Amino acid sequence: MTPAMHGPMRWARRIRRVAIILPAALLWQSASLRAEPSEAPQKASVSACDRAGFRVVLDVGHSDKAWGAISARGQREYDFNLRLATLTQRKLLAAGFAKSVLLVTQGPAMKSLHQRVARANQSGAELFLSIHHDSVPDKFLEKWQVEGVQRGFSDRFTGHSIFVSNSNRDYVASLSFAKLLGKQLKARDLQYTPHYTQKIMGHRQRILVDADAGVYRYDQLIVLKDTRMPAVLLEAGSIINRDEELAMQSPERQGLIAAAVTKAVDEFCAERGPTPGPSSLQRVAREHGGAVVNHNKQR
Ligand SMILES: [Zn+2]
Repeated sequence: MTPAMHGPMRWARRIRRVAIILPAALLWQSASLRAEPSEAPQKASVSACDRAGFRVVLDVGHSDKAWGAISARGQREYDFNLRLATLTQRKLLAAGFAKSVLLVTQGPAMKSLHQRVARANQSGAELFLSIHHDSVPDKFLEKWQVEGVQRGFSDRFTGHSIFVSNSNRDYVASLSFAKLLGKQLKARDLQYTPHYTQKIMGHRQRILVDADAGVYRYDQLIVLKDTRMPAVLLEAGSIINRDEELAMQSPERQGLIAAAVTKAVDEFCAERGPTPGPSSLQRVAREHGGAVVNHNKQR
């Protein structure tokens, strides 16, 4: 596969080649805020979301040794992904989502997406968000010179895109978060790219499941279908597009996207409702005179 093959396209190739594993490292910390289980869900309100108890995994797409796409100016997609995911984690932590996890892979490419998924599943997270930056199929590439080096670019498409898998065990919740994220990006005047609906994309053509929020289905993606929690992949922008590459490098754009993710996570957490703490579990146990199963974890 060529370096210019990006995100979902690249991953589709990988899926065909079977297992790819990227050794992962997880980091997290903790804090506090609590919602009363009896409260009615209040979208986006602080009290409706147990931020301290809600764990989101931010998956940094690709790795230092298998970096994904190459931008119009020769920069590695992995570096864009790491920068944006790190900033997003910082914003989540600052907002009280103290269990936010940054999932960083360090190995060579062929060390399995399955391992990445396994680490996410072991983390017990309530939400998985994979962060990528987009490119185009090779047939769209044009050539230009950057500091004496010939590079590929395509200004044909611009904008972000959001993907979910119908094979995820919680497709409904995955789609719900994807829509919230799309709406938050839109609220910040960021437009999604509609080009995945075009026939010219061939086997990379996707079903647009929400034309307002810019959410597509990509059922075969391993990180979306094998994760045992709601899972979404964000292509934050096209780095093969010369103008958008510059925008994606700017702290302003990165801040907008990180803020959109943080707000969407908060809304999603509020929608899901509070996680029963020990006291409420004990109360339920008393009422039912026996053992308690935390159904909240199974949603
Ligand atoms: Zn990617």
